[in-house]
Amino acid sequence: MAATKTAIFTTSWDDGNPLDFRIAEMLARYGLRGTFYIPRHIDSGVMSENEMAKLSESFEIGAHTLNHVFLTTTDDTNASIEIKVSKTWVQDVTGKPCTMFCPPAGKHTARHLQFARDAGYRGVRTVELMSLARPRCVNGLCIMPTTMQSHPHGAATYLRNALKRTSVSNAWNYLTRGSSGDWTKSAESMMRRAIQVGGVFHLWGHSWEIERFDQWKNVEHVLRLMGELSSEATSLTNGDVVARHTSARKRATASVA
Ligand SMILES: [Zn+2]
Repeated sequence: MAATKTAIFTTSWDDGNPLDFRIAEMLARYGLRGTFYIPRHIDSGVMSENEMAKLSESFEIGAHTLNHVFLTTTDDTNASIEIKVSKTWVQDVTGKPCTMFCPPAGKHTARHLQFARDAGYRGVRTVELMSLARPRCVNGLCIMPTTMQSHPHGAATYLRNALKRTSVSNAWNYLTRGSSGDWTKSAESMMRRAIQVGGVFHLWGHSWEIERFDQWKNVEHVLRLMGELSSEATSLTNGDVVARHTSARKRATASVA
């Protein structure tokens, strides 16, 4: 049967460690797209602004606050500044619009989403796992879940993640496709499921963590597979997923009106 190409593959990589270039090379090798969420400062080390500008020639750069601040541990004024100024900083460094924001460690409340909306972002990437859902858009801001993290999490992490969001479908996805204990196998199963149902398969990770947990071989394996299967999906940056979803919604609204 001919592929319908309604599935989407996307990837995102947090923290801007210089090892991100190893990921960028792999993405380029397998014809994949990606978004790198980069703070200006983080204790684990971050690439230079020149390197960031170079990376932005081939990939999307999203904001990740200026100082990798956990938004729920700071006051509203500071949170709002971190959200807003990191956008203009990314834009100044890359010379391109920055439409995507990712709160460090996924920590945020509805107020922070409003700050992101006010700052002019189009999308926010969360750390929701085992989802194949399209972005959920409210008042012009689209919330984007993920499918897999390039990390060997235990069962408790996945189930806590699903429970926190009272997501039966994410828990079900984990129990049926994720519980082998091998994240690369779960990734493959979820990729195939995305193709079957026309969902979004979203792989994310940290290059410093991949290094620390010796996951490079596994990451390469999964990206190679994504490359092979991408003839049956469309490979997009996070921002492109949001843009495409928003324009599809507009078209649908227009045809109803
Ligand atoms: Zn981070």
